Amino acid sequence: MNIKEEMQKRRTFAIISHPDAGKTTLTEKFLLYGNLIRNAGTVKGKKSGKFATSDWMDIEKQRGISVTSSVMNFEYEGLHVNILDTPGHEDFSEDTYRTLTAVDSVIMIIDGTKGIEAQTLKLFKVCKMRGIPIFTFINKLDREGKDPFDLLKEIEDELDIQTYAMNWPVGMGKRFKGIFDRERDQFIRFTGNELEEAIAKEELQQQQDLIQTEEFQAAAEEIELLNEAGEAFDIEAVQQGELTPVYFGSALAPFGVETFFQSFIAMAPQPFPRKASGELIAPEQEAFSGFIFKIQANMNPAHRDRVAFVRVCSGKFERGMKVTLARTGKNIKIAQTQQFIASSRETLEEAYAGDIIGIYDPNVYRIGDTLVQGSDTYEYEELPQFPPELFKKVTVKNVMKSKQFRKGIEQLVQEGAIQLFRSLRSDEYIIGAVGQLQYDVFEYRMNNEYNVEIVFESIGERIPRWLKTEQVDKKLFDERSLLVKDREDNFLALFKNDFSLRWFQDKHPSIELIDLFEVN
Ligand code: GDP
Repeated sequence: MNIKEEMQKRRTFAIISHPDAGKTTLTEKFLLYGNLIRNAGTVKGKKSGKFATSDWMDIEKQRGISVTSSVMNFEYEGLHVNILDTPGHEDFSEDTYRTLTAVDSVIMIIDGTKGIEAQTLKLFKVCKMRGIPIFTFINKLDREGKDPFDLLKEIEDELDIQTYAMNWPVGMGKRFKGIFDRERDQFIRFTGNELEEAIAKEELQQQQDLIQTEEFQAAAEEIELLNEAGEAFDIEAVQQGELTPVYFGSALAPFGVETFFQSFIAMAPQPFPRKASGELIAPEQEAFSGFIFKIQANMNPAHRDRVAFVRVCSGKFERGMKVTLARTGKNIKIAQTQQFIASSRETLEEAYAGDIIGIYDPNVYRIGDTLVQGSDTYEYEELPQFPPELFKKVTVKNVMKSKQFRKGIEQLVQEGAIQLFRSLRSDEYIIGAVGQLQYDVFEYRMNNEYNVEIVFESIGERIPRWLKTEQVDKKLFDERSLLVKDREDNFLALFKNDFSLRWFQDKHPSIELIDLFEVN
């Protein structure tokens, strides 16, 4: 098979959701379809206790969560599926965000009893910003949840994206009868077991016991409303990330999951051309290229090694291949490779656009680095910096270890594990993160890799805003609008809350404040 055909088979996506919405449960069903696992309950140790086989960091084991996103891949009906896991735990990290730069589409799971929750919203924003196609699965239909119309409206209003209901629930909770599949014009009856009985629309008349029910009558009227609203399904709008196809179902039952997966996989985009140094690089071009979106240290504590995760963007990767690191122009032979299948890692011999590979990092790579085969040295667009939300002052416990302390911080910041700021007055180190987990990993690694004990002093959740000015009058800022500098010496203010942010804006309308999300 040639490079183009291999590339066209790739479907690379991530699943985003708020903790407990059902990501693990849904992922397991996908892996069952892909014959990657035989029993549900094997994906995460949280539930099955089977985590011990892998050699993740201690901290991962202690907390029973996956600190860094892993990658799963399998063949499904002639396609090569790559699922990038995003940590489902509440305290996710910047890696979760960065993972979204490495996928071609996203599945968003919403708990139908809760609607849109905080983490979904954050991750969604990144997808929207990058124009990634988003498919929505509204889960837990077997429980009494929110009204389906209200859920659609919530998605449209809060996320600013159009919706198209691909199917429609008939009842919910104890009164759940099934779903009407608008795509294939058929009803799928919920039988309470895994068998999904499909009844074509024309044959529904013979099912009087069903169509006479209150739930069915109500759903029929609702579907009529949807049809009358008459918005046509627009695949182009889906590809642009402007419209999300919405599916209702239950990951646990499971119900509506396989039809969802089939519909999704048929529409999910193959790898698309990506911008590098102002040009579009075609995924089917001969020469390999890719970028590093994550670096994971200490995957194997015995070896203290580091693995860089590369998203292949074009061509064919072969183990032992020589590539150029675009940032430095240095030639590197890539001999040690890994592919990730659930919790095991295998040596990988070749990969194509859309695939994710792990390469050994002898401490030369940085997040965002481009690797290219041949003499071209274009670079893929820089990964966005994600605004941190939690901030802590950090100091070294034993001042005799100041040198290691600085070295450790410098390296971990460069690696993208954490973001560094300096306060103006005393030049203190302030580190920012998007989740508590990043602090735990930071502390663990400072301890284990640099032999430094650190002391944190929390300054709490903050709203960072960059100041669009060179001249800053320090007197305007105080504890509620803490003035700091980032690594590039840009000024930013860390506001204590929405109130202090608004107060500042009202008081100093001439100072332009930027939210990084808007800049990118
Ligand atoms: P994650 O945190 O997003 O990975 O969520 P999990 O897949 O671990 O699910 C969280 C909880 O919700 C578990 O107890 C699941 O059994 C449950 N759950 C998942 N899907 C469904 C569903 O469709 N219906 C019901 N009733 N519970 C579900």
